[in-house]
Amino acid sequence: MKNYAIGIDMGIKCTITNDANAAAQGEMIYGSARGMKNFIVITLGTGVGSGIVIDGKLLYGHDGFAGELGHCKIDHSGNGRLCGCGQKGCIEAYASATGVARTAKEIVTSTTRPTLLRNVADINHITSKDVFDAAEKGDLVAKEIFDYTGHLLGQKLADYVHFSSPEAIILFGGLTKAGVFS
Ligand SMILES: [Zn+2]
Repeated sequence: MKNYAIGIDMGIKCTITNDANAAAQGEMIYGSARGMKNFIVITLGTGVGSGIVIDGKLLYGHDGFAGELGHCKIDHSGNGRLCGCGQKGCIEAYASATGVARTAKEIVTSTTRPTLLRNVADINHITSKDVFDAAEKGDLVAKEIFDYTGHLLGQKLADYVHFSSPEAIILFGGLTKAGVFS
């Protein structure tokens, strides 16, 4: 299992895999991981995906689903955020774009702290871009949300380093465009 090789009319062999594994393959051939044989790509979008390359090969495990690092838990209390996978406390529920929006919604609805995020028309539809825009304007709460997210993500990335000793961890996806706030 793992890869499905499909022959098509043009005679070109193609392989189907998930987005994070495809991103890792792309980085290895064309991108930041050229020349590397051991690295991890973390995709930060609506979820947290990962593609793990060890000794130059994508890691698939026995059933093709290895490397779902987004579903490693950051909160083991049993009261963590519900993740799309059904578990509670996965890093995906915190460090994805969706997770950033959830953090913002929690702060706006459970505190009275002044923040530009209160100007968002419908708090139920707040996005990570709204948080980014507020942070760019110097909003302290929005900056704190990015700090909090980065702190949690950093903890898990440290775990991944212990696990596979990569040459690099490459962050990929829309959330990485947030960059650095002054
Ligand atoms: Zn999960």
